[in-house]
Formats: sequence, C-alpha cells, structure tokens
Amino acid sequence: MEHMPEPKLFNVTECVVECMLDEVLHEEKMCTCRQCRLDVMALALNHLPPKYVVSEQGKAFEIYRLQGLAQSRVTVYQEILRAAQIVKQRPHHKRQQA
Ligand SMILES: [Zn+2]
Repeated sequence: MEHMPEPKLFNVTECVVECMLDEVLHEEKMCTCRQCRLDVMALALNHLPPKYVVSEQGKAFEIYRLQGLAQSRVTVYQEILRAAQIVKQRPHHKRQQA
C-alpha cells in the first residue's frame, strides 16, 4: 500500500528560528533545556512575521532551505538574541519569582 505524504501547515519562520537557535544559545553560553529553548523560540517568534506554507512531510526542509535563505537572517538572529537575553535573565526553569 502506498503511503501518501500528508500535507501540513508549516511556519517557515519557526523552522528558521529553530535551526538558528542552537547557535545563539551556544554563543550566549546559556541553558539549553527544553523549557528555555521553547521560551526563547516563543519570544522570538512573537516578534517575527510568520510565513505559512502548506507542504507535504519531507518537503519541509527543502522549503526551509529555499525560503530560509531568502529571509533576512540578520533580523531573525537579532530577535533570537534578544529573546535569549530575556530568558537568560529570568529562566522559567528556576521559578525565581518572590
Ligand atoms: Zn533551562
């Protein structure tokens, strides 16, 4: 039986952020736990315009490659960096609220 790829809604901006995330976290020498990673992604993505495409599974990376390169990487990088600095100061994994 043929397994047809399923079309999915896909935010290219999210993929670009995800792909650049590790680089920024490493440079900032900050925590890379799941909580912190998702916090940084959420903060960054709230400041970046989403770019939705409908794609079959497996083509996602191809779309990232094509559109991710065309997108302003400097803008994305700056937003991740800004978000990383916020999360670094007040990481949710520690629950430091008084
Ligand atoms: Zn953490």
